[in-house]
Amino acid sequence: MRLHSFVALTVSCAPIIASLQAHAEDTAFASLIPQPRSCSAGEGFCGLPSPVPFNLPADGRLSEETIRLTVGHRLVLAAQPSEMPPAGGLRLLIGDPRAQGQSLEAYRLIAGQSGIEITGRTGEGVLNGLRTLAQLAIDGPIPCCEIVDWPDASLRGTHLCYHLVRETLAYNTPSFDALMELIDRMASVKINAVLLELEAMFPYRRHAKITCDIAFTREQIERLRRCCELHHIEIIPMVQCLGHAYSVLTREEYAEYRELPDHIQQYCPTNPKVADLYMEFVDEYLQAFPGLRQWHVGGDESRMLGRCPRCEEKVGRLGVARLYGDHVGEIARRVAAKGLKPLLWSDMLEAHPEAVDQLPKDVKIVYWNYHLATWPRPYAAATFMKKGFEVLCANAVRSLALGTELSVYYPLALEGIESLTRRALSDGCREIITTNWMKGSPHESTQYGLVYAAALDWNQSTSLTEFQDRYARLTFGLADPRICALYERLSLRLPYAEPVQNHMVNRLDRFNLSGLRFPEKWGRYTKPDAEPAARDQLSKGFRAASDVLAQLDQIQPSCIRGRREVEMLRLSAECIRAKARLGLALHEGRQIEAAGANEQILRWCAELPATVGQWRAAKERHHRVLLQTGFKPCIDFLNELMFEPAELEFLQQMGDRLAGKIAEGKGPAQVAVAFLDNPGPPYQRGFVHGRTFRSQIHEDVDFWCRQRINTAGERVLSAKRQMFSHVLEHYPCIIQELQGIADGAGKSLDEIFWLNIFNAVSRVQAGEACSAVIRRDAAGALHLGKTTDSDDEQRKVTLLRRVRDQGRDFYVLGWVGTVWVEVALTRSGLAIGANSAPAQPGQSASGIPQHFGAYPVLFEADNVDQAIAAFQKIRFAGKGLVFGLADAAGNAAVLEKTGTAQGVIRLHPDQPGVIGVNDYRSAAMQAHNAGVDEARRRNCQDRRDAFERWLSSTGGPDAIAQLLSEPPLCQAGQIGLHTVDAAILSPAAGEFRLTGLPPSAKQYATWRFADGD
Ligand SMILES: [Zn+2]
Repeated sequence: MRLHSFVALTVSCAPIIASLQAHAEDTAFASLIPQPRSCSAGEGFCGLPSPVPFNLPADGRLSEETIRLTVGHRLVLAAQPSEMPPAGGLRLLIGDPRAQGQSLEAYRLIAGQSGIEITGRTGEGVLNGLRTLAQLAIDGPIPCCEIVDWPDASLRGTHLCYHLVRETLAYNTPSFDALMELIDRMASVKINAVLLELEAMFPYRRHAKITCDIAFTREQIERLRRCCELHHIEIIPMVQCLGHAYSVLTREEYAEYRELPDHIQQYCPTNPKVADLYMEFVDEYLQAFPGLRQWHVGGDESRMLGRCPRCEEKVGRLGVARLYGDHVGEIARRVAAKGLKPLLWSDMLEAHPEAVDQLPKDVKIVYWNYHLATWPRPYAAATFMKKGFEVLCANAVRSLALGTELSVYYPLALEGIESLTRRALSDGCREIITTNWMKGSPHESTQYGLVYAAALDWNQSTSLTEFQDRYARLTFGLADPRICALYERLSLRLPYAEPVQNHMVNRLDRFNLSGLRFPEKWGRYTKPDAEPAARDQLSKGFRAASDVLAQLDQIQPSCIRGRREVEMLRLSAECIRAKARLGLALHEGRQIEAAGANEQILRWCAELPATVGQWRAAKERHHRVLLQTGFKPCIDFLNELMFEPAELEFLQQMGDRLAGKIAEGKGPAQVAVAFLDNPGPPYQRGFVHGRTFRSQIHEDVDFWCRQRINTAGERVLSAKRQMFSHVLEHYPCIIQELQGIADGAGKSLDEIFWLNIFNAVSRVQAGEACSAVIRRDAAGALHLGKTTDSDDEQRKVTLLRRVRDQGRDFYVLGWVGTVWVEVALTRSGLAIGANSAPAQPGQSASGIPQHFGAYPVLFEADNVDQAIAAFQKIRFAGKGLVFGLADAAGNAAVLEKTGTAQGVIRLHPDQPGVIGVNDYRSAAMQAHNAGVDEARRRNCQDRRDAFERWLSSTGGPDAIAQLLSEPPLCQAGQIGLHTVDAAILSPAAGEFRLTGLPPSAKQYATWRFADGD
């Protein structure tokens, strides 16, 4: 009865397959990896009771635990399996799946409105059907369908590689938990074997000296064995019997087995004790993994044959092929005597074909070829098969030392996987393993390639485009495959972040890291024939990484799963961007140090803090993110290799030299203004600021807090306490940011607060002479010019920051270690320039220290009117300020403020400009001029006069540059101050121009808000 109804369903839904649209059920089919052979969609969704009754297949090969492991995370299964296949439930049958070919793993899955039936030739076939079912249920309801499916390859393997992994080397391999997750994931795409290469990670008992400090425990090894058993994944251990024997030979206890006393790569094949030692390893594995069927003896890249006198003599007598063949033949025979099928890498047999004659015929040759089209040796799998050997083909996801260790190199790997898989299958080889040789690159990012290999092993007709579409759906829940292209976009070469194995001499000593350190790389990449290519690669890397980050920003919100995969892509992109930026700064700095204009040096110096900040942030992220699924000592080491302190120190020393060069050429006042691009919430923003300018902040705190403020007495201390509690109560974000600066710089919050308020509580200097001028150009747009004047101690402390938080985006010029606003420009088009002014006599210290005063306004106001309203709500403490305000719409005003008093002078539409200096001019504030002494009054008047004269001339920003460069605006010399920087803001153009040189030098660096940045 029931069978009949399923047949009816199959027939009725066959025509529907042509009309697949973007419905939920289609998404489920389009997500399946591997791609099934035949898939016919029915109508509607499968109705299943909850919990779902199920039975165990009749051949007894599938346990209840395996069924639960495979689909239990998608379906609520009944507490007990039914005796018989349950009507209306999950029916698991052994029978004829009506699949083409005779694969024992074939299955047919029918999901109908009243239940699911999976028929397999064997329990393994049913298991594959269950894996498909789990993927069909990934988004919830299971669409009605019939799927008939079978694999191309009978052995579909993934390499679990801990070759060389130990606490003293820099490789990135899965922690135990990450390994378990990897096996679950690979099982879900129907792989059925793992090549398990544990080396020093295996907990030897008799040979415990080989086992490294971070090795897996016996209990973990048992969990690994059990995990594979439940997934019906065959474990094939690989233990090297000749070359690549570092894990053993690095120990002095095993020195007698070395081919040469000082070399740890290879055993001596004529030492009869080597085979005995090797078989003891086999015995230890057999105890840990009872029931093994196959065993890989390695045997590749044994490049030291015939070096010791005894071997040399044998080679002279019988030849290298015989030396190799005798040894691996003997090992193979002894492995076979243990009931294990011996496997052997092919490369030595390709180099020495006569060695094949020494091998027992039951050896299975593992033919490895990672890129058919460019492989240095002729394709040889078919040759070995013709000689009567069984052959297993091995491709690779992380093979050649290409690209960078900050991402996985994909273009050649995917081509290589595809080309070898198809060739092997067409030649009749049905066993394929994908190697994943340990590297420093993020191991989780190899899963994209491993899953592609699994997809091809099962169904070789899958195209890469088809796969990417499925991968995006299955892994990320995305209907758009663009995310897969990011793996290739990040596949690039990157100087200073090369693969860890790039510099090995002949790959013989993988413990030797010479050539991998920054000074050696710098020497290589600054050679005339190498530098252009290196700079080109750095530029490309920077662009690619920036592009990937921009795309991730767009794509990530749509991802409904795959959080970790996205995190790894972002990690790669951020690390590549930061490293490329540092490399570019090094090479550019080298060039301008040799022959650079001051303007170039200024610009270079201005970008240095951001370059350093990004590098540090990337290093921290690299360490933190990799640590989550890696081994701490290995990640620590890798992190220091990829982000070497020496490269940062070298850059900073270059910065010191270049800054000195500017100072030398133009006098002591000519210091470049540092720029910090600093997005993020307040604490984080402060932390980056504090960390980047740590040494400067230490100097300033020492000077301003210890020497000046701490001698101030109780009146000042009391004012400080009142200011702090006012800011904490009304502007907690400012305190959070100051706390970040304190933590980043390694100072206390109290010290940083002192640094921020010393100006507010100190006596008003007689001659403060900052100016803000606003000028309307011929087109009606406003430009705000601002000079800042300081004494000798304060000269080097200005800092331009770009702050992006709470949807606000602005440039703000202030002082290192503070959140002061001297000059600011918001993306929405408001410009502010601030000048010190006298305090209102007798004002309360309960208020915001005046140099913070414009900061809250920047988070609130988009134009002059909003700024005036926002200032009205703010209570100042300490000195007063006179602000110049201008906006993109053409409004401008001078706003004068002290304590709670505020006055405004608006620029009328028929006036060409307005100026704010250091006294009060508005009617409301005239009474507060009592604190303006005669020298200051005269100085203010001089600047006002200069402005009036200049206003009769014409011109826009360039005319302002002219004004700012001329006395009296740029020379407060008669009152003992220097103009330390000048800025010109054009709100309508979103442009911020700044010179850290005296304005007379007229060398401005420009920052702009660009669309989409
Ligand atoms: Zn020897």
